[in-house]
Amino acid sequence: MKLIVERLVKQFDDFSFEASFQADIGSFITLLGPSGGGKTTALQLISGLIPPDSGHIHFGDIELSRLEPWKRDIGFVFQDYALFPHMSVEENVAYGLQQRQGARQKKEEITDRVSQMLTLVGLEGFEKRKPETLSGGERQRVALARAIAPDPRLLLFDEPLSALDAPLRSRLREEIRELQKKLGITTIYVTHDRDEALSMSDLIVIMNEGRVIEQGAPRTLYRKPATLFTARFLGEGSTITREGKKSFFRPENATLLLEPEDSALRGKMKSLRYLGGRALATIILADKTEISAMVPEQRIDDFEEHKGKPVWVRIDKETLIRVS
Ligand code: ADP
Ligand code: MG
Repeated sequence: MKLIVERLVKQFDDFSFEASFQADIGSFITLLGPSGGGKTTALQLISGLIPPDSGHIHFGDIELSRLEPWKRDIGFVFQDYALFPHMSVEENVAYGLQQRQGARQKKEEITDRVSQMLTLVGLEGFEKRKPETLSGGERQRVALARAIAPDPRLLLFDEPLSALDAPLRSRLREEIRELQKKLGITTIYVTHDRDEALSMSDLIVIMNEGRVIEQGAPRTLYRKPATLFTARFLGEGSTITREGKKSFFRPENATLLLEPEDSALRGKMKSLRYLGGRALATIILADKTEISAMVPEQRIDDFEEHKGKPVWVRIDKETLIRVS
């Protein structure tokens, strides 16, 4: 069973959006790309917040694009939490349930479901608190509980962790991913953060300027990107021309040498930037191309006083990527 976004088109005054991608039902899909790339637009089209000009969204054998937005069974988590400030935590979480079930759902059932959801996101005991008394991370957990409470078929996240500090962000990444796996909810997660995309996703869809650049599993996209855009967006790297063709390599696939070696590139060391546990060396080749190589901690001493001096760079042939 697949989620298929098929030639979904939306034309704004000065922005044209057209996207297609597909993924397995139950998987964690990340839309990754720079700001203004159309990621939020994609989520709004999928959820029905804005109508597409054309295109289809198939969820297994259901065509979501034919359903009214409120019948699509979609949970949405935003960057700014979008909690109701006058409602308590439990009222916020119950809100989606009441909306969906109408008056038919028994009060006790809602209460049970709410406390089950709060346990799931680690917020037992927070029932009566108001959003303003919560930290950013706690608010985002409430938003998550509210989104999953009605048991949606599809969960959408729009940069949910961007407002949080780094350690909390990395903890919540793991929590969200674990929860998603446990519940098996098909998830589309929007971010501009490559680490987030690489660490959480089954599938990454790279977006830029309203288009899908390419899609693939994190390790495949990182190691074998088809485009220079993807290669650069997913991590550091350098481009060299070989036999008239552009090739890209990652700094961890380049070894810095003090002596010449067959087929190693000769250059001058421009700088060495310490990154903790490793350093990134920048080398200028004879044709003025700048490339970078990773130097492991135990070899940094060899190159520390080496600025302006000749070095050689050995690049693993198998890791050279032909890019367009
Ligand atoms: P991202 O989420 O990747 O940063 P967005 O989808 O928010 O990108 O925006 C992509 C482009 O679409 C932007 O240039 C934005 O101005 C434009 N855009 C988004 N929504 C609207 C709208 N309702 N009307 C006109 N232009 C819009
Ligand atoms: Mg956005």
